[in-house]
Amino acid sequence: MKTITVNIVTPDGPVYDSEVSMVIAVTATGEMGILPGHIPTVAPLGIGAVRLKKENSTELAAVSGGFLEVRPDKVTILAQSAELATDIDLARAQESARRAEAMLQANKGEVDFQRAELALRRAKNRINVYEGNI
Ligand code: ATP
Repeated sequence: MKTITVNIVTPDGPVYDSEVSMVIAVTATGEMGILPGHIPTVAPLGIGAVRLKKENSTELAAVSGGFLEVRPDKVTILAQSAELATDIDLARAQESARRAEAMLQANKGEVDFQRAELALRRAKNRINVYEGNI
């Protein structure tokens, strides 16, 4: 089985380094599936799940924006934040979603509204990745 190396790196340090058979990431323009031998490319990442497929298993990571760099033998994900499903603190994500929803209800102005919307998307993404609900 052909594989491709995936590195996920954040400002807090490395999160993932492994060989996989396929990566599926959410870019700014939609889902992108990457197989070994993919043509070189760079794409901005949205808030979403990264699916890391191996022969008999799939790992999930929650990513909150950044960049994806693809080379034929390596995918590098430079993420603003990234957590593997097993490292996600569900209670923290639920509390963050609750806080963001309260901010959206309070309707304190454009800037706070946009910040709360992004915070809510990050929290929901983490909850979905934790639950494997992708
Ligand atoms: P919160 O409101 O809980 O701080 P946030 O979306 O504002 O969430 P970020 O700014 O995206 O948090 O991330 C800050 C740091 O905390 C990052 O290192 C991120 O990986 C980590 N982090 C945030 N939420 C969680 C979570 N639910 N489980 C594990 N790590 C988390």
